[in-house]
Amino acid sequence: MVLVSGLYSQAQDQKMDTFISQLMARMTTEEKLGQMNLLPGTSATTGELKNSPLLKLVAEGKLGTVLNQKGVEGIRQLQDAAVKKSRLGIPLLIGMDVIHGYETIFPIPLGMSCSWDLKAIEQAARIAAKEATADGICWTYSPMVDIALDARWGRIAEGNGEDPFLGCRIAEALVKGYQSNYGPENMMACVKHYALYGGAEAGRDYNTVDMSHIRMYNQFFPPYEAAAKAGAGSFMTSFNIVDYIPATANKWLIDDVLRRQWAWDGFVVTDYGAIGEIIKHGLGNLSQASTLALKAGTDMDMCSEGFINTLGQSLKEGKVSMDDIDRACRRVLEAKYKLGLFDDPYRFLDEKRRDKDIYTAEHRQAARQLAAESFVLLKNENRTLPLKKQGKIALIGPMADNRINMAGTWAPTADNEKYATLKEAMEQALAGRATLTYAQGCNFTSDSVLQKDGGFYRPTPFGNAARLKREALTIAREADVIICAMGESAEMSGESSSRATLEIFDVQRELLEALLELGKPVIVLNFAGRPTVLTWEQAHVPAILQVWFGGSEAGDAICDVIFGDKVPSGKLTTSMPQATGQEPLYYNYLPTGRPVGEGRTDFSKFGSNYFDVRNDPLYPFGFGLSYTTFSYSDISLNGRKASVTVTNTGDYDADEIVQLYIHDVVASITRPVKELKGFERIHLKKGESRIVTFDITDDLLKFYNHNLEYVLEPGDFEIMIGPDSSLKHLKKAVLTIP
Ligand code: BGC
Repeated sequence: MVLVSGLYSQAQDQKMDTFISQLMARMTTEEKLGQMNLLPGTSATTGELKNSPLLKLVAEGKLGTVLNQKGVEGIRQLQDAAVKKSRLGIPLLIGMDVIHGYETIFPIPLGMSCSWDLKAIEQAARIAAKEATADGICWTYSPMVDIALDARWGRIAEGNGEDPFLGCRIAEALVKGYQSNYGPENMMACVKHYALYGGAEAGRDYNTVDMSHIRMYNQFFPPYEAAAKAGAGSFMTSFNIVDYIPATANKWLIDDVLRRQWAWDGFVVTDYGAIGEIIKHGLGNLSQASTLALKAGTDMDMCSEGFINTLGQSLKEGKVSMDDIDRACRRVLEAKYKLGLFDDPYRFLDEKRRDKDIYTAEHRQAARQLAAESFVLLKNENRTLPLKKQGKIALIGPMADNRINMAGTWAPTADNEKYATLKEAMEQALAGRATLTYAQGCNFTSDSVLQKDGGFYRPTPFGNAARLKREALTIAREADVIICAMGESAEMSGESSSRATLEIFDVQRELLEALLELGKPVIVLNFAGRPTVLTWEQAHVPAILQVWFGGSEAGDAICDVIFGDKVPSGKLTTSMPQATGQEPLYYNYLPTGRPVGEGRTDFSKFGSNYFDVRNDPLYPFGFGLSYTTFSYSDISLNGRKASVTVTNTGDYDADEIVQLYIHDVVASITRPVKELKGFERIHLKKGESRIVTFDITDDLLKFYNHNLEYVLEPGDFEIMIGPDSSLKHLKKAVLTIP
C-alpha cells in the first residue's frame, strides 16, 4: 500500500489493512456496493427522519454515506441504524458542503484567497472543522481548487482565483486545516472538482472543456496535485469532460494521473449525480455509465444510485470484477477507519459540543479579521477612505441592510438570522459619534425576473423603483458622505450562476450616477462573487472597495476597514476586466507571434488586440491599494537569492504582500509572460523598511515540456518583484542558469 500523506503511520496502515480485510471477508456484494453509495439526507427534524427511506437503506446495508444532513440529532438516528441495525454495523460517513465556514462564516473562497494569508486560511479551515464536527459532520466537500480564468463562471467565487502557485499553497493550507491528524475536531477534506471544472467554455457552468495536456499539467493540475500531496483523504470528480470523456469515467485522469503519477491513496467520489450525467454525455445507459466510472477508479457514487442498482448485475455478466468492487469498497472503508469511526461511530456526535464549539466569540473574531484582509481597495482618490466617525453618513444600496445575503454563496449551514447587516454593524461602530441614515435605494436589477433568478433560495423582495430612488436621494442630499453597498446578491455567483455581462446592474448604476451628481464623496462597496466590470465606476467614483461576500462578520469587518481601524491589504487573485469581452482574462497568458505590449494605450493593427478595448485588465492580478504607500528598491541578486527592500513610505502601519514573478525567456515550448513563484505577507510600521528575499529554487524554474517531462531548461530567467503583476510596478533582474 502506498503511503502519501504522512498523516498516517505505517504501523496504523498495517493494522487498518488487516482490519478491513477481515471485515470485507464477511461482506456480501450488496453490502460492498452499499458502502459505495452516497445519498442526500433530509436536513429534517427528528420526527420526519423517522419515516425517512434512508433509515431503511442504512439498516439494510445499502447505504454507507449520507450528505447534507445537519444536526447531531438526525445524524445520530442514521448512525444508530448503521451501527445497531445493519448486519455488520459499519458506521456511516457524514458529508456536507462546508465551504467557507460552518456557522461562523468566513469570506467566500475567492475573497479569502485575496488575503494571501496562508496561516489565517488554514485557521479558517480548522475552525470550520471544529464547528462541523461539533454538529456531526466529518467529511467536507472542500477545498475547491479549480483554476478559474473566466469571471463569467459563477463558481469562480468558490475557488482561489487564476494562479496555480497561489492555488497550491491555499490548497495545502486548507487540507491541513481541515484534516490535521484526524483528531475528533478534524474532518476529512474532499478536493474538487477533479478536473478542469473551471475550464468551462464561455464561462457557462457545466459546459465543455477541451484542453491540451501541457496546459493541464502546467496551469490547471498543480493545485489538485498539491492537495493530493498534502494528504487530502478524498477527491471529487467534476461534471465536465476531460479529453472527451466525462471526468467520472476517465481512467487516465483518475487512475493514471491522480493515483499513479501523484501516488495518492484516498477515495474518489463523483459529483452530485455525475454518473447519471454520463448518460447525457452520450456514453451509454446507467449500467454502462456505472461500469465506466468504477473501472476508471471512482469509488463512491453521489446520488446517481448507479453503483448500488447496476453493478451487481454487471458483476454477474462479467463486465466488472469483484476486484474492481473490492478496491472501491476498501478505499471507502479506509476513510471511515482513518476518521476513527470504527473505534467510535459516535465520535462526532457529542451533543454537548454544539453550544461550546460553534459560532464562538473566538471564531467570529478570526472570521472578522480574515474578512478585513480579504477586501481589496481598488481606488481611493484624495484619500476618501478611511472615513472619520463624524458628521452625517448615508448608507445606501441593496446590500446595505440585507441579512440573508451576508454569508455569500455556498453556505448551506449558515444560520443567517444570527448575522448582522452592514447597517446594524455600522450603527454599532459609530455608536452615536456620527449620524447614520439608510435607504435601500434600488433593487438589484430593474428586471424582477432576473432578480428572482439570481436570488435562488434567498430572494430579496422587489421594491418600487421610483420610491426607493427618491428615498435614497432624500437622505443623500442631507449627508456629508455617501456609502453605496451594491453589486450582486449572494446567489448571483456560485453554482449555476454564470453571467454573460459583468457590469454593475442597470438600476444600481443609475442610482450611482444620481448620487454622484450631488457632488459629495461617494464610496462604493462592491459585493460580488466574481470580478465586476468597474470601468465606469473607476472613472467616476472616488473610492471603491471590493468586499466580495465577507461572511458572517462582514458587517463589522467592513466598518473596521472603512473607518480606519484596519488598513486594507487584500490583493486580487483574479484579474478584473475592462469589458466582459476580454474574458477569459488572466495575467499569466502565453505570448503570441503578434504581441501587443502590456500597458499599450493605442490600437495596434495586425497585433493581437481588440480595436475597441485595450488588452490590459482594469485591475491586474495581485493589485490592491492600502491607506499607506510602499516603495520597492531594485532587486539585488546574489546567486539564487533575489532580494528587495520594501519601505512603508506612508502614514499608516500596514501589511504588504510582496510578490515574485518569473519569466522563462527562451524555452523549448512557449512559456507564460510571467508567473507568480513566491510571495510574502509582511507588516511594516510607517517609515519601516524590510529586506524580503526569495530563494529561486529549481522547482520555481521548472515546467512540463512537450513530452510532459518536468524539466529545468538552462538559460535566462527574468526575475520580477513588486506589489502586483503589472510590469510598471515590478522591479526586474535577470538570472542566468548555465
Ligand atoms: C456541486 C459540488 C457539491 C455537491 C454536493 C454539486 O452540485 O458541484 O461542489 O459538493 O453538489 O452538494
